[in-house]
Amino acid sequence: MLLIIAVCVLAFCSSCNESDGNVQESLPSASPFVVVLGIAQDAGFPQAACKKSCCADAWHTREQRKMVSCLAIVDPQSKERWIIDATPDFKDQLRMLDSIAPSGQNPGLNGILLTHAHIGHYTGLMHLGREVIGAQGVPVYAMPRMRTFLENNGPWDQLLKLRNIEINQLGADSTIRLNERISIRPFSVPHRDEYSETVGFQILGPEASVVFIPDIDKWERWERSIEELIAECDRAYLDGTFYADGEIPGRDMAEIPHPFIEESMRRFAALPVSERRKIRFIHLNHSNPALQTASTAQQAIRDQGFGLAEQGERTRL
Ligand SMILES: [Zn+2]
Ligand SMILES: [Zn+2]
Ligand SMILES: [Zn+2]
Repeated sequence: MLLIIAVCVLAFCSSCNESDGNVQESLPSASPFVVVLGIAQDAGFPQAACKKSCCADAWHTREQRKMVSCLAIVDPQSKERWIIDATPDFKDQLRMLDSIAPSGQNPGLNGILLTHAHIGHYTGLMHLGREVIGAQGVPVYAMPRMRTFLENNGPWDQLLKLRNIEINQLGADSTIRLNERISIRPFSVPHRDEYSETVGFQILGPEASVVFIPDIDKWERWERSIEELIAECDRAYLDGTFYADGEIPGRDMAEIPHPFIEESMRRFAALPVSERRKIRFIHLNHSNPALQTASTAQQAIRDQGFGLAEQGERTRL
């Protein structure tokens, strides 16, 4: 009997993630939750053609690899699932989601919410077309320019013609109800908007909310206060593309602006511990030393009260 109890306790604990804050401690099975399906910048980790030391371990050891930043939203009660961004790792991320929250449907996605038209954030849509799943009417939530981009460029226009996807238009700052328990609010952020505008999302559940901003130029270039948004949420997955200036030798980093993790940590240093603990950096470039296990960068992030997003971690909504 004792053995049975021990096994049950172990099985329950292994279904919870390591607890590092107050939001994901116990996950009652019926609560909706957000789960991280990837943490890397658009190109993934390792990055194509990288022969430098940053990617050496990741080329040799599968466990070191990281998929492109992506969140899934799951409602275990209604068995609904949504993902934010369709990444180049869509195939493996859908598989991962199936293992976390199985669906009887194919692909079993109640919606795909898109942040913007850079390759790490929408190209996974290709798997919905006739060459792969041949999906029917998967709702894709997109802002107006993002929508026009998909409607007017191949091969994405074919997904619409064949009704593999249907577009639900988003408006900045207007809340969309995903179901009776979960809503989502997109908000505009400054970014290199060559093909589309860029949004971040706030996911609102019955008990908690999560903010996701994978790409933004700099906090100072945003008319909104990131601190206010952090105060409104329980967890914030924020752009951690680069750790520090000079990280990509021979390339002008002003052309690809992001808030360096060092800058963000300096900016947020005055926040109370409870606020800092909500912040988890995501969308890490292969050059980012915080991707290296036990690096000084990783240690510095933890020492200052922040966190790094991890694949598979969950936050109850
Ligand atoms: Zn990106
Ligand atoms: Zn590399
Ligand atoms: Zn981008």
